Amino acid sequence: MPSYRIPKDDQVLAALRRATDLKPIVDSQRKLKRLVDRELRGDEGFKVGEERVRRLAIDSRLFELRINTRETEEKRSMVRCPVCDSRLRRLRNATVFGGTVTLGYKCGTCGYWTGLRRRVPVRYTFMRK
Ligand SMILES: [Zn+2]
Repeated sequence: MPSYRIPKDDQVLAALRRATDLKPIVDSQRKLKRLVDRELRGDEGFKVGEERVRRLAIDSRLFELRINTRETEEKRSMVRCPVCDSRLRRLRNATVFGGTVTLGYKCGTCGYWTGLRRRVPVRYTFMRK
């Protein structure tokens, strides 16, 4: 058993809202997690992971998300968004031979996109709408 407790989604959301009422622009996922932890701390030693905070922030639609990425040499097809786990849409272009070619992928939920060389998210900025 861990020595901390896992808060429910609505508790995290409330903490997220309180934290960003005071600080509407947060320029990293780690900072956002810290702010949420601070808001939750009063509530019985709750702890929450960075990724969970990010996903909840995206789902809440309270934020505009800016995603900074680093391009890698890796080329392979992608199905799920590495930021929010939604299904990615293929970006295609027609070829002169009558077919289509995949240029990359885009997420309709969080705005992540990548070319064929995979872009790895390195930094997030969360801006309250
Ligand atoms: Zn996404």
